[in-house]
This record gives sequence, structure tokens and C-alpha cells, in this order.
Amino acid sequence: MNPEDTEVWEPEPVKVDPGKLTASPPSDAIILFDGTDMSAFDIPEGTEWIVHDGIVTITPSKEQQEIPVVITTIQEFGDIQLHVEWRAPLEIHGEGQRRGNSGIFLQKRYEIQVLDSYNNRTYSNGQAASVYKQHIPDVNACRPPGEWQTYDIIFTAPRFMEGGELENPAFVTVIHNGVLVQNHVEILGTIRFIGYPEYEPHPLKQALGLQDHGDAVSYRNIWVREL
Ligand code: MG
Repeated sequence: MNPEDTEVWEPEPVKVDPGKLTASPPSDAIILFDGTDMSAFDIPEGTEWIVHDGIVTITPSKEQQEIPVVITTIQEFGDIQLHVEWRAPLEIHGEGQRRGNSGIFLQKRYEIQVLDSYNNRTYSNGQAASVYKQHIPDVNACRPPGEWQTYDIIFTAPRFMEGGELENPAFVTVIHNGVLVQNHVEILGTIRFIGYPEYEPHPLKQALGLQDHGDAVSYRNIWVREL
């Protein structure tokens, strides 16, 4: 198969203008990034995340455009509510998947796409707030590049039987800038760039990840609540 075989271009989600909102963490949240340091994350060699001005920004590199690197939380999670704020770089270069690409990796393997999808057509199941190559967002609630955007994600982890067979698939709900865009959709398996997703058994709790795809995407105010 080729990467193009699993791209879905139609329908294209209708654009909506999201309202303004911010969210400070509730009292029972586990803070993953509050603007001071990235000590909640394991950052492998070959990727650089610079904390500055209360935010963290990926240092773009050519290699990561080809081979994305995912940084992971030290703590592992099962069912969660996750809040993330992200910003695509104001300075636009590249198009399609090469513009403000990053990603939220639930349990290291189920990607909620981060992409500058403001005026940037790509395959619908690969745009911002898609479950990458699995589910198209209901609408396009993207803000312009350079503006902060929020994801509120409710995730139910998959359950596997002792022998490794799938007992219950994962489900995810995504609210993008206050707009519901994925309503309890079933995750079909580990995301695949090429080919179709398939489940691979894993423990109930797994790390959360953020993707370095070679673009200077910034993050702030990341917190999680265990369900
Ligand atoms: Mg991505």
C-alpha cells in the first residue's frame, strides 16, 4: 500500500469560528506542563523542546520532517480527561501535512492530529483534530496560525483479554476550541501512516506523547485528570 491509499479527502469539514476560551486546571488535575519545565516528560535524543515565556516550543529540524519523534510522559495513564493548548507557528511555510504538524499521542499510539488547518487543505482524516487516518472532525474549528488553540480530550483506553485479544476498543471525544468535533468515536487501532490501523495489545496504562514533526509548534497549560 501507499500512504495515499488511506487518505480520505471528502467530505471536507465545514469551517466554524470558535469562541474565546481559556481553562486553568481544576484542583484534581495532574499538571504535565505549567510553563516552568518539562520534567513530566521523557525527551529522547534528537528532539529539542525549549521552555520560554511560560510555553514550550519544538525546535524544528530537517530530520524530524522525515521521522517524527514522540516525547512521552513519565507517568502512565488509562482513561483520562486531557487538556492541551497548542499554537502553530505564525510564520507559514510548507503546506498540507508540512504546516504546523505535531500530535497528541494517547497511550503512545493513538494520534489526535495537531496541524495548522486554518487555510491549509490536506486529506480530511489527517487535518487538525482528526483521529489520524481514522476519523474526520465534524467541523474545522481551527484558529489562525499564531493563535492559541485548545483540545479537550476524553479518552477511554482499550481493554485486552489475557491472551491479548481485544475485549473493548478505545473511544475518544475531542473538543477543539470549545467545539465538539469527535463525539465518542471508536479508535480502530494503532495509527498507521501506511496501511490500516490494527490493535496491538498493551497494558491498561501507557504514557501520553507529543509529536515533534519538525515544525515549531508550541504548547502550554497541559493537564490531565484520571477517570
Ligand atoms: Mg502529527
